[in-house]
Amino acid sequence: MEMKIKRKLCTPDELKEQIPITEKMKEIKAERDREIADIITGKSEKLLLIIGPCSADREDAVLDYISRLRRVQEAVKDKIFIVPRIYTNKPRTTGEGYKGIALQPDPKEQPDMLKGLVALRQMHIRAMQETEFTCADEMLYPENHSYLSDILSYVAVGARSVENQQHRLVASGVGIPVGMKNPTSGDKEVMLNSILAAQIPHTISYRGYEVETPGNPYAHAILRGYVKEDGKCYSNYHYEDLEELFEAYSRRSLLNPGVIVDANHANSNKKYLAQIRICKEVIHSRKLSNDIRSFVKGFMVESYIEDGNQSSTGECYGKSITDPCLGWEKSERLIYEMAELW
Ligand code: PEP
Ligand code: MN
Repeated sequence: MEMKIKRKLCTPDELKEQIPITEKMKEIKAERDREIADIITGKSEKLLLIIGPCSADREDAVLDYISRLRRVQEAVKDKIFIVPRIYTNKPRTTGEGYKGIALQPDPKEQPDMLKGLVALRQMHIRAMQETEFTCADEMLYPENHSYLSDILSYVAVGARSVENQQHRLVASGVGIPVGMKNPTSGDKEVMLNSILAAQIPHTISYRGYEVETPGNPYAHAILRGYVKEDGKCYSNYHYEDLEELFEAYSRRSLLNPGVIVDANHANSNKKYLAQIRICKEVIHSRKLSNDIRSFVKGFMVESYIEDGNQSSTGECYGKSITDPCLGWEKSERLIYEMAELW
């Protein structure tokens, strides 16, 4: 039996017209995009911190969380540039389970993609309006990028997508920094190949059009740990890992060598508290070598209001329904400590 068409979804242009951004928001995004680009190119030495819940499961808690981040951002603005995670599409290891607000605007209800598109754009816009943050999302479905292309300041290509041609080629055309994660196997060459693919121009098929991409000089690496055949998690944030990646980068002619360390996922083995120790260790590694200092651009941290996680039908406000996150008090303390140490 074949799949069947349920209904036609609105186009990105229709959704953008229905939920537009203001001139002021455009200016905020342009300014923030410039600041992030300066970090990636090395013009600015600030720490780029991509932080927030594993999945943006409900608007009230996510907005509450992001407005807390805004207060901290003001206090650390000379050292740290914060890009909140509003992750609206979730990759799943086996395809089962909650797949993000884009598909399931209410985690307890059946999928509704039309409502999902409205919900995800609304949430990103509210974040921008109420906190002047432009945010990060995962580019899980490259064709969905257009629904947020006027809002996002950062996208990641996840560990399960980084070897995929369409992800790499669309990454070359999004015009904002793209973090390419190491694949779940940990193969750094796959990640470097994806960075090259994203940095060069292509002619691609995208949303029914033949499109030319300019190449993305801001594509860079994200180390997130990996899983071996024994099913166990292995980390790749230690000094030797950073050095090895720096050297592998040097053997290629890639633009703007840089890495973000994802402190959760297979690096922490999802022991969310370990994120604190991991960030501090990497900051220490930066102090030991000028190469590593300029190479490490910042961190990805999974953080929310409450510590840990719960099932996707859980009722606890501000607690992750996907990967376990660092709760607010500990996250706030970590950001202040990172600003001291960086
Ligand atoms: C995530 O960032 O929540 C995520 C799913 O990451 P990864 O692709 O590294 O598993
Ligand atoms: Mn996660």
